[in-house]
Amino acid sequence: MGANQRLRQRTVWLLIIVLVFGFGAVISRLAYLQLINGEDLQQKAVEQQLSDTTVSAKRGTIYDRNGKVLAQSASVWQVVLSPANFKEEYQREYVASELAEILSLEYEDVLEKTKQNSYYTVVKRKIESEEREKILELMNKVEEKYDLSSVIALLDDYKRYYPYSELASSVIGFTGSDDQGLYGVEFEYDEYLTGTPGRLITATTANGTVMPFDYSQNVEAIDGNSVVLTIDETIQSIIEKYMQQAIVDNDVYNRGVCIAMDVNTGEILGMATVDGYDLNDPFTISKEERKKINAIDRDYLFENGYLTEDSNATGKEVDELIKQAKSEAESAALSKMWRNKAISDTYYPGSVFKMITLSMALEESTISQKSKFNCSGYFQLYDKKIGCHNTAGHGTQNYVEALCNSCNPAFIQIGQSVGEEKFWDYYQSFGFSEKTGIDLPGESDDLFFTEDGSMGPVDLAVASFGQNFSITPIQMITAASAIANGGKLVQPHVVKQILGVDGSVVKNISTDTKRQVISKEVAREMCGILEENATNGSGKNGYVAGYRVAGKTGTSEKLTDSNGDFVDDYIASFCGFAPADNPEIAMLVFFDTPLGGNYYGSAVAAPVFANIMSEVLPYLELEAQYTEDEAANVDTIAGTYTGLSVSEATKNVNADGFDVTIKGEGTTVVAQVPAAGSSIPTGGTVVLYTDDDSVTQKVTVPNLIGYSLYDVNYLASYYGINVSLTGAVNSSDSTSYSQSIPEGTEVSPGTVVTVAFNTSGIND
Ligand SMILES: [Zn+2]
Repeated sequence: MGANQRLRQRTVWLLIIVLVFGFGAVISRLAYLQLINGEDLQQKAVEQQLSDTTVSAKRGTIYDRNGKVLAQSASVWQVVLSPANFKEEYQREYVASELAEILSLEYEDVLEKTKQNSYYTVVKRKIESEEREKILELMNKVEEKYDLSSVIALLDDYKRYYPYSELASSVIGFTGSDDQGLYGVEFEYDEYLTGTPGRLITATTANGTVMPFDYSQNVEAIDGNSVVLTIDETIQSIIEKYMQQAIVDNDVYNRGVCIAMDVNTGEILGMATVDGYDLNDPFTISKEERKKINAIDRDYLFENGYLTEDSNATGKEVDELIKQAKSEAESAALSKMWRNKAISDTYYPGSVFKMITLSMALEESTISQKSKFNCSGYFQLYDKKIGCHNTAGHGTQNYVEALCNSCNPAFIQIGQSVGEEKFWDYYQSFGFSEKTGIDLPGESDDLFFTEDGSMGPVDLAVASFGQNFSITPIQMITAASAIANGGKLVQPHVVKQILGVDGSVVKNISTDTKRQVISKEVAREMCGILEENATNGSGKNGYVAGYRVAGKTGTSEKLTDSNGDFVDDYIASFCGFAPADNPEIAMLVFFDTPLGGNYYGSAVAAPVFANIMSEVLPYLELEAQYTEDEAANVDTIAGTYTGLSVSEATKNVNADGFDVTIKGEGTTVVAQVPAAGSSIPTGGTVVLYTDDDSVTQKVTVPNLIGYSLYDVNYLASYYGINVSLTGAVNSSDSTSYSQSIPEGTEVSPGTVVTVAFNTSGIND
């Protein structure tokens, strides 16, 4: 609550900064020389005093870890007037009307500026080169027409530009109209990025008009340093692609989070809050939010406490209140849109936390391989019955089975073996009671039962399976990384390096290891258990063929919303890492309130984890090792078969591991599907066309959702298409849940449709 309020207050403050200081003067020396050259000004030099104008520095660039530009400052211009240099009224009117036309401004406003008693007034800032060309033409015209060379000037200015628009928006953040960092890295590293503004000290006359440059001193601006993020643009893009799709597929109400972290260094490789926002247009809220705000009326005032039944506000007062409510709703919508949920939201971690509880018990040796944990579908604690998701009960389990079953009653017993005091010690040691210290603004605190860690038996029971205390996603992945890396708690960070203007390294941000949380041996054992879980247990929807993945699902109830009201919503999450035998990357996937029918982490989050990892692990050049079963489903690359004789092509297709289908009456292959270079499952079919007529043949993609692996393969061959299988393809009870080309689409025979599988019936 407190943290939320503080964040909200800061947002309001930032808005104020933007509004109040957004129109400061920026001036460069060159332009200044163009501006002030009237000789007649020198006469009153005696009455001079000093004035100081800031010269803006160019803001540094933000790069991804491989040098791709994520944010940069481009040159733009500002148009200024020197009204005191006009001689006649008709000159003012002409210039005002031309400027208003070119810059899309109100004529009256510009005319007003031409009448000021000043040598410097800004007409418009941050104009682009197209407008600049027109202003240059106008300057020539004015000089020819009226012999006035110094009434209009173009000064250098800078504009922040984000080439990838929405990518990593909650991490990168944005700047205000004066180039000051307002959010994210732009805010956190503002002192490095902003550079040192120069100064132009000029003499002014007693009545405030600026004197010619003879009386000025110039201090050059020093451009800002650049910042290299730990974020990898490719990984970030893969993450956002799958997260975006999952938000739609699962009708997620309150957005999703994904964090990918190097388990050894704490470097954040990807961090997304999806949906994000357009960094090039951060003050525009979505159409739906806009619609809601526009709909604010008298009823809304009553419903939201702006008005009470017994108030007798006049019509005018009601209008004022509506205006106020709209502006407050707009601020709230903006701060919600900008919010980095990965570090600012807290949530009940749910069953993902079982990896922490089990680590405690193993480290303290309060359980052993001989320990048995019984589950009859619920656990009786005094007068309270705490249920298991498997109401029939899991029976007798050892601790590996307990984790793979994600059995709550078993974990209550494991938690009891650890005890309240030790539980609190490890909670602190794993970093849950403190901020991770990630280099981003807006990190929230956790919320534990009590401040000193004391808790009752029921608190301990539910805490053992991750309920009723709140942590941030960044805390969870940092703790999971400690299990993955051999027991070390490292500090997560998003910036790798600060570079000087000439590209030299100003500062390296190295790994900060806080402490050893559990022993190497326990960490290694936990990796094995979590791998077993992701292969055969409740986490098997997170399985990635060819890679050793470890992980745990979680489904937690969101018992209260930010107002403290009861809501029956869920967080679906999956947290894991790979490769399990030598982990490099950890990832947390988190969806806030999926409304698409299924809300379990196993169904909503685990497949997304698998999809992202299936692209990220090969990208990280980790070599896949397939089992015999997996090898049958692995894709291979189709060769070039066109231009060959039918018999030769057939021989080559078979040698590449595919079946062949010939279409047409010709003797030479004129076309092939799939195309050369595309990937097809081993044992798939390549269609070879031998004349132009045959090429036009089409087949219709059938529905491939809701079937077993066997059925999907059968349907594919029946309809003459190829299928590439992804997701939980190692499990005999898997069912297909999505297909890359929709049912009913007309495609060439042999086209590859990607079909994803998961297993159902895991209610966690
Ligand atoms: Zn159970």
